[in-house]
Amino acid sequence: MYYIFKKILIIIKMIKSNIIILGCNSSLPTKNFHPTSQILYMRENYYLIDCGEGTQVQLIKSRIKINKINNIFISHLHGDHYFGLIGILSTYQLLKRNKKLNIYSPKGLKNIIYEHLKWSNSKITYPLKFITLKSKKYKKIYENNDIKIYIIPLKHKIYTNGFLFKEKKKLKNLNIENVKKIKEIKISDYLNIKKGNNFIKKNGKKIPNNYLTFKSKKTLSYAFCSDTSFYPKITKYLKNVDLLYHESTYLHEKKKLAYNRGHSTSKQAAKIAKLSNVKKLLLGHYSCRYPNISKFEKEAKKIFPNCETSKNLKKYYI
Ligand SMILES: [Zn+2]
Ligand SMILES: [Zn+2]
Repeated sequence: MYYIFKKILIIIKMIKSNIIILGCNSSLPTKNFHPTSQILYMRENYYLIDCGEGTQVQLIKSRIKINKINNIFISHLHGDHYFGLIGILSTYQLLKRNKKLNIYSPKGLKNIIYEHLKWSNSKITYPLKFITLKSKKYKKIYENNDIKIYIIPLKHKIYTNGFLFKEKKKLKNLNIENVKKIKEIKISDYLNIKKGNNFIKKNGKKIPNNYLTFKSKKTLSYAFCSDTSFYPKITKYLKNVDLLYHESTYLHEKKKLAYNRGHSTSKQAAKIAKLSNVKKLLLGHYSCRYPNISKFEKEAKKIFPNCETSKNLKKYYI
């Protein structure tokens, strides 16, 4: 019995939305930290967010099959956020991928990749689509049956976006015992009830939806904000997000340097989390000048206690 219970718990954990950190350093990789990349698992799909150098190897270590990725989101064209891409695209070719791959990125990435392929006399034969992001406004860029993805324009040295991933409402589960009590309800009415509508009987009497269904699960959201200066304007898009990854390249003692280089401090990341009323904050994009990242967490926690530093290959549930 205990064994079955444990097995069920593992399965529930497996299907829970999460991110795995593949890289959380800034420009220079170190022994323990790669440049930015992470993989989001949400509603049975994998989304790769940024693709710094070494991402492919990190994916192998995380035991995620790269062929499960169909959508890649690149925040901006500084090398620490996309230098790993050409390797992954080449591997797909070697693995004879035939599924379509979408890459959402600022203008220029398609040219970079095809120039690279030209000079190495290589080609890509699987369907590869580049979707150019150029809006400077918060905007929906992707939608499927389960989630919606928005860009959040950030304040950096070059055109940069954050990404907001929002689960859509799931259809409600029927309370079949109560449904059966209402003889007029036919199977063809089920979808309408699952969508949350009341049932109206022929005599005009309303059967409230909450009598016919169980309460639906809360929808989850995840926001990725790297790289950016302290930019309180974004808080309106981050309101009540379940998990926010916000860059914290420096400690606050280097706030001037952070500002000059288009980055944030951990104190500023915590301020954004607080102003947005997010549930949890994850820090990352550390400068390699800090051998001890616990200082970031300590500084941020003074302002926003539910905060953690992102670590190599660690999984964070949303
Ligand atoms: Zn960066
Ligand atoms: Zn950058």
